[in-house]
Amino acid sequence: MAEIEPDRLRAAHQHLRQKVEQSDLRAQGKSRFTSETQQRKEVGKGDSKLTEPTFLRPQDIQKGVTYDVEKVFYTTLGNEIRRVNRDDLVAFQKNIELLQDQYKRGITAKQVINLSLPFDIKKSNEQIFMAVPLSIKNGVVHFMTNASKESNVTEHHVNVEFLNYQSLILQPTAITADAVKKKLMYGKLKFECDCGRHTYWFRYIASIGGYGFGRIEEGYPKLTNPHLAGVACKHVLRVMHYILSPAFTQYITKQLQKERSKQAGQRRKQTDRQLIKELDRQFEIIESKTNKVIARNDKAAQREMMRRANNYNKAKQREAEKRQKQELEKVAKEQGKDAADKIIQKQKQDALRTLDSLLASKLITPEQYAFYKRGTK
Ligand SMILES: [Zn+2]
Repeated sequence: MAEIEPDRLRAAHQHLRQKVEQSDLRAQGKSRFTSETQQRKEVGKGDSKLTEPTFLRPQDIQKGVTYDVEKVFYTTLGNEIRRVNRDDLVAFQKNIELLQDQYKRGITAKQVINLSLPFDIKKSNEQIFMAVPLSIKNGVVHFMTNASKESNVTEHHVNVEFLNYQSLILQPTAITADAVKKKLMYGKLKFECDCGRHTYWFRYIASIGGYGFGRIEEGYPKLTNPHLAGVACKHVLRVMHYILSPAFTQYITKQLQKERSKQAGQRRKQTDRQLIKELDRQFEIIESKTNKVIARNDKAAQREMMRRANNYNKAKQREAEKRQKQELEKVAKEQGKDAADKIIQKQKQDALRTLDSLLASKLITPEQYAFYKRGTK
């Protein structure tokens, strides 16, 4: 159970209440993302005085084994800061491929929680208490959460796009509660947060995974997150938890009804009164200690990651294994045992990389890792 400091909770509640009463939150949220984009653009241009380029671009990664040390990059792959070498680029390529395969079918609120790092979930439970939907337009909800005590801002802005929203609006039959649940709460979505953790750790992964909302990040996080582990920051996690709650179902159902009965495509804002009421409600639930904590289902997540990493159904997998075996026999016959051994080595390396990524996401323990690793030798 997460320990919550009462002072933290009270301060967060007060800050958000003041925010609602004082300002145009829509404009503030927008300007956060605009200035982040502007900053990124400036850094991306590079500084001619700097000898090391900051961003490792797709073009650099593409070079892989043909990479010649024309630029010096640094990485923390292997847990210490050192120069990027050719092997790293190949590892980066593989990490990207693995990730792209993993997210081919998109991501849902539940999966965001299940695939997040325990570190982020803990922080979310201990520091981020409230998330409220400020407004909605064309299926994109602008949420506000509190910031942690240590942050230099008092609130964060999270945008979530519900990919099935538009089709529900246009649906010619009545919308059932079941459809809202299935298509919105448990449906595919895209998201972004204005915080540093999302910007420097997760925006790239979201871009590659195809579930990023807003600016596409093309720079590989070689220093902050070379394993491409994790999915969401503590603010996004709080928002996902809220999306899975009855309060959100109520909110989104009301919005859908408005959209279907009045003009569609308008920005629909919640009033200050509605927002304050919702903030107070969330505050009281936590204060009375009847809140549900954010928790991931490790077993389901592990299964999901393995399934995604395999990305085959059983028949296809058997077929692939058969093909690999045949190819191996052919190579052994034509090019000798050494060439065949090389292929086996490569297959083992691929399996190892899947294990590395499971370990980095803390979905398997170091003991499990060691156990499975023996199988790849
Ligand atoms: Zn965040």
